[in-house]
Amino acid sequence: TCGICVEKCPFDAIEIINLPQELEEDATHRYGENSFALYGLPIPEKGKVTGLLGPNGIGKSTAVKVLSGEITPNLGDFEDPPSWDEVIDQFRGTELQDYLQGVRDGDIEVARKPQYVDQIPEQFGGETRQLLESADERGVVDEIAERLSITPVLDQDIDSLSGGELQRVALAATLVQDADFYFVDELTPYLDIGQRVAAARLVRELAEEQNRAVLVVEHDLAVLDLLADSIHVAYGRPSAYGVVTDPKSTKKGINEYLRGYLDNENMRIRPEAIEFEQHAPRPVSEADTLVDYPDMSKSYGEGEFSLDVEGGSINRNEVLGVVGPNGIGKSTFAKLLAGGLEPDEGDVDLGLDIAYKPQYVEADQPMRVDAFLSSITDEFGTSYWNTEIAQPLQLERIMEQNLPDLSGGERQRVAIAATLSKDADLYLLDEPSAHLDVEQRVLATRAIRRYAENHEATVMVIDHDIYMIDLLADRLMVFDGEPAEYGHASPPQEMRSGMNEFLANLDVTFRRDENLGRPRINKPGSQKDEQQKREGEYYYTQ
Ligand code: ADP
Ligand code: ADP
Ligand code: MG
Repeated sequence: TCGICVEKCPFDAIEIINLPQELEEDATHRYGENSFALYGLPIPEKGKVTGLLGPNGIGKSTAVKVLSGEITPNLGDFEDPPSWDEVIDQFRGTELQDYLQGVRDGDIEVARKPQYVDQIPEQFGGETRQLLESADERGVVDEIAERLSITPVLDQDIDSLSGGELQRVALAATLVQDADFYFVDELTPYLDIGQRVAAARLVRELAEEQNRAVLVVEHDLAVLDLLADSIHVAYGRPSAYGVVTDPKSTKKGINEYLRGYLDNENMRIRPEAIEFEQHAPRPVSEADTLVDYPDMSKSYGEGEFSLDVEGGSINRNEVLGVVGPNGIGKSTFAKLLAGGLEPDEGDVDLGLDIAYKPQYVEADQPMRVDAFLSSITDEFGTSYWNTEIAQPLQLERIMEQNLPDLSGGERQRVAIAATLSKDADLYLLDEPSAHLDVEQRVLATRAIRRYAENHEATVMVIDHDIYMIDLLADRLMVFDGEPAEYGHASPPQEMRSGMNEFLANLDVTFRRDENLGRPRINKPGSQKDEQQKREGEYYYTQ
């Protein structure tokens, strides 16, 4: 059995687990009769970053509301809730006792970065600098702005910022506060890998050097690995109940999660393990060429941004990964291929049918999800389509909703499904991981990979989640340049040389976890880091 999914199992293989019996009496909080219940709590620890790994709807925000004193936990008794003292009694002798006493006495100051930064401009108007300075209890705005590379936007109005800028401003506004407990609900949405690593290092320093307790929720596993000292896995049935495990070492927590089995809890959370290619990148198939595209260039306005694309070829039946910093022209390239944009030089009449999922997915037609998807493919509703598309993308429980009512993650899954359901020569997915939680990423990655294999489809995937790229791609296309000024696109190359070129630009090396072969970011200046840089092997070390 498996604890992650709601309703129908995406693999059609396992039954839904019920709450482990030994837990039944031990709820931390229950909202009401037949409402969501949370079991266990993460433990904030001074000087440490604690990670919380699990799907959305599993009670992460509920846990944080308890830890910040916003709700007094009722220990499951919503009709006759216990007093704070009774609650603390329940946690007596555990590591949470002192912390909860602090919460009860109002001694714990909390700073929080919200999950959905897009909503910030609705709450704050005016200049970015004013927002940050009004939060700046530690007197570190300028330093933190510099570290997060947002100094150039400090004089702009909040509502003019891009998603990636807003994300870093929200993080800065949290970290400049003088709090005991910091909660960061997702660090990486809209950020490129360089920005993700910089943000993660800043959070680590706050915990280590200022001796603060930090709790993070993060769905990019490479970044979570870099960030957290320890991890609680959260499992259960989203919106029904969630169980927060005892802390595990970060390495063990992520490995158990990927394997799909929690050792101490004796709990299977997924029927199959997620495995990385350990030894060498996928061999490039000697497949025929789907298309040769020529050298192209495109600039916007007068000297605003220019992109140079070196001509290359895309192989039939490959998954081509595309990587590079934000603002470097990746989406522009996708639009050039898809025909939505004309190049200044170069002829891109490729004669291909392209199915394109743009980076920003709009879904404003007043139409139900099932009606929308069945208008795209005749295969809608067949058992084949259900198994390959609907189940892994967890569409069943949103089929009857209207497109405009969908959340970001739901809209993303519908858009991936719609794109893959089309009949096309080339499928182009711009940032499919955006807004997906960790479980949905794992399932979407498998769905895309399986679809490519079973349909002999050719797929191009632009993404910043290095695990997703590693699991998906046969070859890699690397963009470099100066974001917002100029970009350069190299032709597709094999994974090893592509990763080396990409990561050398970022000055980041990866090692492999000895058990799962999962990539892990090296500490800068560590022996491995220096040796790999000397050898020019940034990613594949075997
Ligand atoms: P996560 O942060 O992991 O996404 P949440 O803690 O926000 O999860 O929510 C877990 C579940 O609890 C959701 O199904 C949500 O609808 C439910 N929930 C949250 N707040 C309340 C509330 N005040 N009353 C009833 N149910 C709630
Ligand atoms: P990426 O996908 O790599 O993040 P994009 O291709 O979206 O990059 O954008 C590259 C640069 O071009 C950015 O600086 C962006 O602001 C700019 N840009 C994108 N579209 C337009 C447009 N229609 N007009 C002017 N500038 C644009
Ligand atoms: Mg883009």
